[in-house]
Amino acid sequence: MIRYIDAHAHILEPFFKLNEVKNVITDALSKDVIKIVNCASDPSQFNNCLETSKFDEIEISIGLQPTLADRIINADPIRELSDNPLSKNIRAIGEVGLDYHWIKDENLRDRQKVLFIDCIELANEQQIPLVIHSRKAEMDALEILSKHAQVPVLLHSFEGNLKAVEFAKELEYKITVPTNVVIRRNRRKVAVRAGIENILLETDSPYCAPADDIRPNTPSTIPIVAEKLASIFEVELEELARITTNNTKNFYRI
Ligand SMILES: [Zn+2]
Repeated sequence: MIRYIDAHAHILEPFFKLNEVKNVITDALSKDVIKIVNCASDPSQFNNCLETSKFDEIEISIGLQPTLADRIINADPIRELSDNPLSKNIRAIGEVGLDYHWIKDENLRDRQKVLFIDCIELANEQQIPLVIHSRKAEMDALEILSKHAQVPVLLHSFEGNLKAVEFAKELEYKITVPTNVVIRRNRRKVAVRAGIENILLETDSPYCAPADDIRPNTPSTIPIVAEKLASIFEVELEELARITTNNTKNFYRI
């Protein structure tokens, strides 16, 4: 029996209305996607994300994306959620990290690092795993994590080079492969280097669609990445699903 988990998606405003979440789940279930880890990475989405955790099929992860570092200096917006009873459903801190693609200014990059380190400290304090965004900043992110993180780490939508993937493996970090692996050769290279035992599947919905005409992407496209990886690793689809779903359950402790 095939059972998938979408290890990272954004089924939230402004991409999806709260009353659309049920449909997204129904579509996902029809494709054997039994759980979705829903991620909010901006304080304006936090309450919306906590609300979605009322669905049995949804687990949640709460973070502060690095591009917020011009106005958010530390992890306090996440700490402040502890008053909300739904915050007990938070499975991970993320996505947090570094983004050198959108942020070129050195001063702002330094502020990203300060915010990132405080988010890591928060995950350490709460003993919950970290989900990392590291666009064009893979080695810097890994160096910071190797110094500070004392919890499991997932490199979401990771596109590091060979050296970065090897470093991540040494640190025993996991990597998510998104649905656009079918149209992006570099993502296939990362997957091969990471190895099936270190991989989780994600859609990063509404992003990372498996084809340019799919908008928005939704968790129901997970079988597309699964089929691609099964052929790359030359394993049966059931086996690929079993391994990656176990990796996801172990990582998020679900
Ligand atoms: Zn994401």
